[in-house]
Amino acid sequence: MNTEGNESGPALKHHCGLAAVRAATPVDVQQKLFYMLFAQQHRGQEACGIAWRHGNGLRFDKRLGMVSGAAESWLAGKAESTAGIGHVRYATHGGGGIANAQPVVVDCNKGSIALAHNGNISNSDRLRTALFEGGSIFQTTSDSEILLHRISRSTAAGKEAIIRDALSEVEGAYSLCVLWDNDLIVIRDPMGFRPLYIAQHEGAWYAASETCGLRALGPLDCREVQPGECIVIDDAGLRSFFLPAASRRARCIFELFYFARPDSTIFGQSVYLARQSLGAALAEQDNAAGFKPDLVMPVPDSGTLAALGYAAVAGVPFALGLTRNHYAGRSFIMPTKTERELAVRMKLHAVPEVVAGKDIAIIDDSLVRGTTSGIIVRLLKEAGARSVHVRLSSPELRWPCYYGIDIPTREELISNRMNPEQVAAFIAANSVCFLPLETMRRCLKAPENEFCCACFDGHYPTPLGVCRALEREE
Ligand code: SF4
Repeated sequence: MNTEGNESGPALKHHCGLAAVRAATPVDVQQKLFYMLFAQQHRGQEACGIAWRHGNGLRFDKRLGMVSGAAESWLAGKAESTAGIGHVRYATHGGGGIANAQPVVVDCNKGSIALAHNGNISNSDRLRTALFEGGSIFQTTSDSEILLHRISRSTAAGKEAIIRDALSEVEGAYSLCVLWDNDLIVIRDPMGFRPLYIAQHEGAWYAASETCGLRALGPLDCREVQPGECIVIDDAGLRSFFLPAASRRARCIFELFYFARPDSTIFGQSVYLARQSLGAALAEQDNAAGFKPDLVMPVPDSGTLAALGYAAVAGVPFALGLTRNHYAGRSFIMPTKTERELAVRMKLHAVPEVVAGKDIAIIDDSLVRGTTSGIIVRLLKEAGARSVHVRLSSPELRWPCYYGIDIPTREELISNRMNPEQVAAFIAANSVCFLPLETMRRCLKAPENEFCCACFDGHYPTPLGVCRALEREE
């Protein structure tokens, strides 16, 4: 399901998106960050914020809500500056509220520092406890603040050595933009969980979580920040160094098939083409099983590209027999089944003239709790569909994520309670098929030691804390 939430509860949410700028001469930093964050709104809708160099210190502006809410101020602000960073947030760790909005900005013994973080630190409990017992005072419950404490407490000399020291025991997912005095430092964890890109434009350097964030400024040539790479941009220009290599890479496969904007290039691949290839594989699977629908339709908008790929390979018409009311806004948790159904009915509508009398394959990117899928099947059957076959362009989702994606508990994930036949019966579909993990890995060119697929196979790429390991056993 897409990030706007077709599920009756909220859909899966990303932790956040990043933007940064470092220029040799002052630019309108608020405006630049606004456009980059606006293009990455899908990576976090709860809060947004920017911080920029002002005089010898930093200024910041953080808000709850969407980036568009800051348009009047940031587009008119005219804060000329050589450096700034920005962040959009959805709270998966540390709770919501303005206190946990980013960038986190501090004045400390190492200077003025603003930090924006995408990801989750998987050993944050241990690191936080050690800092707390050593006298650190925390202002937020966000794991990102841990990184600032570790920078402040480091006894290493020089920014590069301090960064190395501060990150030395940190595990998990962290793509970071750090504004340290007038220097911009862009960091990607050694496993490379979250994407991070950098580009040059009109004499300035820009960084963003996704290439769509950079290309909001123009048709830029974007280069991926490599796993473990730290790029420092200061008055002397750009240089990079690497953190100690990890035993493996763990790019998050969810970025490719679910989160990233379709016009982005993520982990060296077009998101658009990657999703099409998953739909093509679903069609091959149905061809092999001797099933051919009358038409294929997407759940809007999350299944559109896979449905296009399916239609091309299966040789069946692509139709938009399910339309979406774009004014319905985001889903929110409804207390009763009736209210949940009404919320979905406000958002999605079947077109009887398209679906009546047809055998339909309806494509979505994932199945989380199954509640919305059941309502969609009912909508299509009420509109006269002869049969409805649900196809998911991903494997069965079974495990929570500890690296920045808000996946429900194992109990809530329908694939932990039911096999595909039982799911089909539960949602009253004529059939339900997932894409096997090996097929997804093949389509997305995602070998085991390069990508994280833990939410599908439970093979977490980092050690989990005791509580999390117990959670996993439940
Ligand atoms: S557990 Fe799933 S969502 Fe989390 S990083 Fe791994 S692949 Fe991505």
